[in-house]
Amino acid sequence: MNPFGNISSNHSSWSVLLVIYNLPSALCMKHKYMMLSMMIFGPKQPGNDIDVYLNPLIEDMKLLWNEGVDVFDAFKNKSFRLHAMLFCTINDFPAYGNLSGYSVKGHRACPICEDKTSYEHLKHGRKTVYLGHRRFLKKYHPHCRLKKAFNGYQEHDICPTPLSGVEIYEKIKNVNATFGKMKKKQTVSEIWKKRSIFFYLPYWCKLDFRHYLDVMHVEKNVCDSLIGTLLNIKGKTKDGLNARLDLIEMNIREELAPREVGKHTYLHAACYTLSKKEKTSFCECLKGVKVSHDYSSNVKSLVSMNDLKLIGLKSHDCHVLMQQLLSVAIRGILPKNVRHTITRLCSFFNSICSKEIDSSKLDELEEEIIVILCQLEMFFPPSFFDIMVHLVVHLVREIKLCGPIYMRWMYPVERYMKILKGYVKNQCRP
Ligand SMILES: [Zn+2]
Repeated sequence: MNPFGNISSNHSSWSVLLVIYNLPSALCMKHKYMMLSMMIFGPKQPGNDIDVYLNPLIEDMKLLWNEGVDVFDAFKNKSFRLHAMLFCTINDFPAYGNLSGYSVKGHRACPICEDKTSYEHLKHGRKTVYLGHRRFLKKYHPHCRLKKAFNGYQEHDICPTPLSGVEIYEKIKNVNATFGKMKKKQTVSEIWKKRSIFFYLPYWCKLDFRHYLDVMHVEKNVCDSLIGTLLNIKGKTKDGLNARLDLIEMNIREELAPREVGKHTYLHAACYTLSKKEKTSFCECLKGVKVSHDYSSNVKSLVSMNDLKLIGLKSHDCHVLMQQLLSVAIRGILPKNVRHTITRLCSFFNSICSKEIDSSKLDELEEEIIVILCQLEMFFPPSFFDIMVHLVVHLVREIKLCGPIYMRWMYPVERYMKILKGYVKNQCRP
């Protein structure tokens, strides 16, 4: 299921696609086997009201689970009773909130940590950030005792245990949401906004996973934050005066405090700040990249040498950068420890996105990403840690329970929607 994007500037359209998962893995994400179940058009996104539109689909899925339908098998030349179940949804993070009924904004934005989400409200940056990745480390890890290198406190919290489907159902079974225009504004900020319509499926609460985190969107957001901060791109960087003032507020990294000289305020270079020479070297490296046809878009065209920044990065460009190019472009620049951490992050994304994953190495990978996130907390300002950066910590758990990521990310879906969008545009042409 994915938001389709705008067909016209003042209308939104959402599409619901069904993917058949009991085909061979090489086939199931092919366009030929995807089914467009519905498209929802409107002046606004359906938001939590999406349940109203999904009702007919859920009725069909209940029929397919309980009674089944008779289908003709042309190969065997006979009829059989077809049963089907819906076992997950794949969507971006805002749609995750709309479908699951969990509020993915605010202090408890992580649906996996739920009410144990570790958050910090930044006074100057005026946003909530999600630090506290030391909770996921092994007990007595040396990082847990450090104060100033992190948020000013030692870490004594333990890693939260995700709730099972049954436990979630117990929490939300009495939540009654009103759909439509006449709905009342909720005054109490509950983390569960509604009982998702999917819970009407008899098996839904027994599933290990109901909604997947989409790695395509997670990777894009992490890449955008990383490149925006490294190249200090206006509007994308997580560093700045407010980020530095928040460091003073948290009483950490005094050396980065803004310095006022006359009417001007100066910000000291941090360990992740690139000098003009380093930025030029970074951009020149990417400008010189040549890739084979169909591997990625033309990387050269993404680099603006005049402004020393990357422009117009699409999801797949971010994927290629995180998988291969970024760790090459930062060679020889940045302090060694920062460079190593970023390279390890890129290598982590490369490992989890590969088609074959050794299940015996998953524990190692999980430990690796926790250490990487802790190290990023040591180097980058707290404002860097938005919810998408935090979600990276949960990706390996999903692989452990649901298998390789390429079977459940949105690249094939986005490509399908692009083709469909072109088709709709051609049909609508006067
Ligand atoms: Zn979490």
